[in-house]
Amino acid sequence: MPIIKANGYGIGAVEVARTLGIPFDDGVEPSQAPWGVGISSLDEAQKLRDAGCTGRIFCATPLLPLELPRALALKVRPALHRMEDITYWWRLSKGRAPYHLSIDTGMSRAGERWDEVSALRSVLEKAPPEGVFTHFHSVDESIVSRNEQDSRFREALAALAGVLPATVLLHSDNSGAIASRQNGSPGHLARPGIALYAGLYASELGLRQVIHLRARVVDVRDVLPYESVSYGATWIAAPGKVSRVATLAVGYADGYPWHFSNSGRVIIDGTICPIVGRVTMDMTMVDVTEIPCAVGDVATLLGSDSGLTLSIEEETRRSRTFPYELLVGLGLRIPVFYHDVLPSSI
Ligand SMILES: *Cc1c(COP(=O)(O)O)cnc(C)c1O
Repeated sequence: MPIIKANGYGIGAVEVARTLGIPFDDGVEPSQAPWGVGISSLDEAQKLRDAGCTGRIFCATPLLPLELPRALALKVRPALHRMEDITYWWRLSKGRAPYHLSIDTGMSRAGERWDEVSALRSVLEKAPPEGVFTHFHSVDESIVSRNEQDSRFREALAALAGVLPATVLLHSDNSGAIASRQNGSPGHLARPGIALYAGLYASELGLRQVIHLRARVVDVRDVLPYESVSYGATWIAAPGKVSRVATLAVGYADGYPWHFSNSGRVIIDGTICPIVGRVTMDMTMVDVTEIPCAVGDVATLLGSDSGLTLSIEEETRRSRTFPYELLVGLGLRIPVFYHDVLPSSI
């Protein structure tokens, strides 16, 4: 169940869903469709339905009771755990609409506590869930914490023995959890998010980054020794030579992180060049002293060019920024072009 919340992590939920083979009402029958997709709000579900998406949609964020009628109309499977919400959903849908039971095994964010689920036995007997799920808090850092949450989840399921349908769909794994397993994810579904976009775990999972962020050089200038570049004059040109600095038409208003100031890198003319000075809202400067560079040239800020790759994973690690935040920010202003990236056999 790919997670395409936050507009597909900034990349475009509809395009991502189509690329992954989620069915739309255009008559194309995908051969290997995922079970469904996960999103986080009803507006996100609405955008998918408006685009013709006919696949299953699961909403992982709790909904307010007043949102449940709209969830039903949108054929969204809500994550529920409060007895009164489950009862209301069942009445609203005349016992026909699926939902997933949310169990908190340590994230302390949403769901029923794993050690208190038996209080739900009677309501679940009358209104059985289609799925039961939990979510990890530190799987990227600690297998110990993952194992603890795994065992709490199993404990909760044991406490519900006899009331869950035999066909119940269990799911727990986000990208980090998937990457951490030796023998595949437990349960029936997994919920990869960031890995789909190669924002993390690309090497562990054998994934290739298909997102490329590019910008044009819109100005090039000589900068003399000791002259500064950009706000705060945080970069000073080297003594003893004339530096060449190119200006790219991209900044933090496009989601290119301010934290890449003096630490980001770009590919121009088959060479990796450093960002110099602070990233500004609309423009970012690069040291191009060592390469030929002219107005109109294309710079690659993330992704591949000329056989070189700047991966989201590596670049965010170097600049101590957060790959999730980087990705969702890319939806801010930049035009997005989609190319057919999948071999036709998939
Ligand atoms: C966001 C989210 C995911 C996906 O997490 P990644 O770390 O991006 O793989 C999975 N499950 C839930 C409940 C989420 O909120």
